Amino acid sequence: MGSLEGTVAENGGAAEAAAAAAATTTAPSCNGKQLEENGNAVDMAQTDGPPAFPAADCGDGPGATGVTTRKGRFGGLVALPLEVGTRMLCRWRDGKFHPVKVIERRKLPPTVSFCGGGHEYEYYVHYTEFNRRLDEWVKLDQLDLDTVEADVDEKVEDKATSLKMTRHQKRKIDETHVEGHEELDAASLREHEEFTKVKNIATIELGRYEIETWYFSPFPPEYNDCVKLFFCEFCLNFMKRKEQLQRHMRKCDLKHPPGDEIYRCGTLSMFEVDGKKNKVYGQNLCYLAKLFLDHKTLYYDVDLFLFYVLCECDDRGCHMVGYFSKEKHSEESYNLACILTLPPYQRKGYGKFLIAFSYELSKKEGKVGTPERPLSDLGLLSYRGYWTRVLLDILKKHKSNISIKELSDMTAIKADDILSTLQSLDLIQYRKGQHAICADPKVLDRHLKAAGRGGLDVDVSKLIWTPFKEQG
Ligand SMILES: [Zn+2]
Repeated sequence: MGSLEGTVAENGGAAEAAAAAAATTTAPSCNGKQLEENGNAVDMAQTDGPPAFPAADCGDGPGATGVTTRKGRFGGLVALPLEVGTRMLCRWRDGKFHPVKVIERRKLPPTVSFCGGGHEYEYYVHYTEFNRRLDEWVKLDQLDLDTVEADVDEKVEDKATSLKMTRHQKRKIDETHVEGHEELDAASLREHEEFTKVKNIATIELGRYEIETWYFSPFPPEYNDCVKLFFCEFCLNFMKRKEQLQRHMRKCDLKHPPGDEIYRCGTLSMFEVDGKKNKVYGQNLCYLAKLFLDHKTLYYDVDLFLFYVLCECDDRGCHMVGYFSKEKHSEESYNLACILTLPPYQRKGYGKFLIAFSYELSKKEGKVGTPERPLSDLGLLSYRGYWTRVLLDILKKHKSNISIKELSDMTAIKADDILSTLQSLDLIQYRKGQHAICADPKVLDRHLKAAGRGGLDVDVSKLIWTPFKEQG
């Protein structure tokens, strides 16, 4: 665990987060279109007639399966179907062409491929300028074959080999964070990317929202053929069909996450769910979260975790907006393992609220805490913002000298994190073998302004909680 991509769109700082937000939350018309395309890939086989490909695009005619060729711009021939690793331009949802690399290809159902000439395939592409979360299946006519680059990347091994990974291998890879490449040898990194390269579930329905997913999630094999999953927003059970969900909703008696409500302020509630007492819920939550976190660890052992689930409440129930998980016992003083704000609720300050909440729990425990490492780059950005606001607010009020130890005692932020934050802001001087904080009010104000707003505050008086103790 430890990836934090899901919260970062709130920062609005990172270009890719903004791009992702634009694609997933603020452009409903694009979402709808995307869904239709995905849906067609499956539905056409049973219902619709063949799509109207321009005749000029057709190659060898019906049923053609062999390699065909197309003329490239420079007179060269482009072999179809395209090889995995091919680079070219592809028309994205913004209508513009962007460079892509083909990650995978698959055959379309027979009625779609009547045309032959490479149209019997669709291609899973990675937009090289964008985050992996925007990878998607595209049809041949979205690809500009005139721009195919001559060199195909080294051939990626057959997918079948990667699917033979043992559970142990898979776990080993997942437990090693990939963004910190230093911990992962090249072979393992390739294995990880090979195994998770293609998004399996394209959309989910959760409560009032239909949400486009960002990443692969290892749902059980019987869901392999699903493009869309339907989640009960309360118990997080997932189903293949809408009718199954409707039937489920008539008998599901939950109206909030299972577990104890430990915080209520206005319409916001936080529930503490013990992974041991609510194993299925914990696992469902992990499957769901992985759809939005690239390198989240797949913990099969949810027993060891507590899940803090944040909800917006109304007369229909408590609707999950995000969560963080926390190990019951952490020797490394981790106070947070995974954190996610669901896309429809991003950029409302919930990610910052969740981070602040994790530190309020640490204060109640009388411990310092730190998020599980390594953090993704975007996760670090969220935390840096939080640490900056909290620490500089205190420095502004304390005109006199204050030590890092004192700051740590007041905030439950680990001393290392305080030191690295202040160092990154150039507020630490090293004098006579000692770190000294220099806190010019003007400099502090400038940094505070750059760190942005703090989002929703945690009202500590509304937190009713005692630290976890193993029963018996
Ligand atoms: Zn349910």
